[in-house]
Amino acid sequence: MKKRLAILGSTGSVGTQALEVVDQHPGLFTVEILSAHSNDALLIEQAAKYKPNAVVVTDETKYDTVKSALANSDIKVFCGAQSLCEVVQWDSVDLVLAAIVGFAGLHSTVAALQAGKQVAIANKETLVVAGEIVMKLAQEKNILPLPVDSEHSALFQCLVGERADAIEKIILTASGGPFLGKKTNFLVNVKKDHALQHPNWAMGAKITIDSATLMNKGLEMIEAKWLFGLQNEQIDVVIHPQSIIHSLVQFRDGSLKAQMGLPDMKLPIQYALGYPQRLSNDFKRFDFREYGSFTFEAPDYKTFRNLALAKDAMYKGGNAPCVLNAANEVVVNAFLQNKVGFLEMNDIIESALQKISFIEAPVMADLEQTDAETRKFTESLVKKSQLYS
Ligand code: NDP
Ligand code: MG
Repeated sequence: MKKRLAILGSTGSVGTQALEVVDQHPGLFTVEILSAHSNDALLIEQAAKYKPNAVVVTDETKYDTVKSALANSDIKVFCGAQSLCEVVQWDSVDLVLAAIVGFAGLHSTVAALQAGKQVAIANKETLVVAGEIVMKLAQEKNILPLPVDSEHSALFQCLVGERADAIEKIILTASGGPFLGKKTNFLVNVKKDHALQHPNWAMGAKITIDSATLMNKGLEMIEAKWLFGLQNEQIDVVIHPQSIIHSLVQFRDGSLKAQMGLPDMKLPIQYALGYPQRLSNDFKRFDFREYGSFTFEAPDYKTFRNLALAKDAMYKGGNAPCVLNAANEVVVNAFLQNKVGFLEMNDIIESALQKISFIEAPVMADLEQTDAETRKFTESLVKKSQLYS
């Protein structure tokens, strides 16, 4: 029987690539649900092509446009964030791909797990904010969340056939982003157009800025901690500018396993959608003749302070990663509107981490409150930036 997919965030970079994977395997998948926030035109186009049972548009101002465009079809149209939490629980859904960006993806992922659905998680912010709660829920429901993030997919693939207690540590690889090797005197003047030029990966705007500041790797450390049940000390990061080794596991005998491939998100997406099968495809293959050498270097925690802030938040635990994430979402959004400087993002996140009250063992309601409080506080700091107008 075909796997029936709910693709949340289908208009995004991961969402559209997931649909390309579906195109490659028409006999294996059907699209049951699609969701978009603001891109009504693309959602309508996708709905016409994939004929899902339902679409959800979370930006309610777009509802009428989508509804009238699909009026002559059998496709159900829903709006609002709550609808996402309902449709993912339908009996007709087998697998939910969580590809919404940011904290906004948390509730629908939790709702999917509550209904015992298989989830494939691209939305790393969900695991950063509520990794402990999400993984506990998954365990209760006997679900193994499938990672989509390329590094975590790499680790997951390296761990096939291995026992969890055989892991000594994991090493996340980072490309270093567009500003690898740069120092503060350069970074202070960086603008969004430059920061959006990632050397190896084409991704959504938020994660591309996170890659330039190295916050992305910091978020991924926390994501790995929860996905693989690791201690903080077991998580390491190395800069590998070629982005061919997607991460490594070091085992207790000193042996290392790495997963490699071209930097193409369709690979980890396909691995998650097809799991436990490894599916074939006609994507471009790696050719060693195109790569003279692979290089490695230690990350510069002093210049790229977001990485240090994320690591500290991981060690601190509790609601600290939630504060980190909310403050980061606000400053990245402001940076994309030229309202704060590149390095100011570090200062503001650090202030939020100092200001917001610490909660050691937050429940969902605490996380929601932490998220809201942090956003409010961070926005007030953004407004004090010289660039803000
Ligand atoms: P994009 O910005 O390209 O897409 C985000 C998707 O989420 C869009 O469909 C968007 O809808 C939707 N969305 C945005 N805001 C909301 C909201 N408030 N409520 C509901 N839906 C919303 O992001 P990416 O695809 O790049 O990233 C998605 C997630 O995957 C992120 O968490 C990212 O960190 C992670 N990831 C991405 C990778 C990549 O290569 N892109 C790699 C590894 C992880 P619309 O466009 O219609 O407004
Ligand atoms: Mg990644």
